[in-house]
Amino acid sequence: MNKSDAVRKKCLECAGGSPKEVTLCHIVDCPVWPYRFGYSMNDKRFWKRMTSAKRRYPEQYHEMVLSLYEYVKNRPNLAKNEHIRSILLDEGIDIYKTPCSKNKKKESSLYAKL
Ligand code: SF4
Repeated sequence: MNKSDAVRKKCLECAGGSPKEVTLCHIVDCPVWPYRFGYSMNDKRFWKRMTSAKRRYPEQYHEMVLSLYEYVKNRPNLAKNEHIRSILLDEGIDIYKTPCSKNKKKESSLYAKL
């Protein structure tokens, strides 16, 4: 079994066999979170799966993104990651603009959706 298959299998076991729960996993500090689909964030399939999850489960997707925001906001190295920034920006969160009032307003409206 290669590394990708091992990660995918581990995540499926962790999520009780549910691919949906793997996709929407909000344990963003888990070391394998960026690889939970069995491929990296550089892979187009990663984004296809994220886009599909956002469309199909918008509220759970928001929860996951907010968990990601809470995790990376005090970790500059992660916050600089273009893929992570892209996920946050897609949800209207610009990590470099916090804590300006405009972004706080966006943040509170995001929390209001939950
Ligand atoms: S990324 Fe999520 S689903 Fe995968 S092992 Fe970690 S906590 Fe479990």
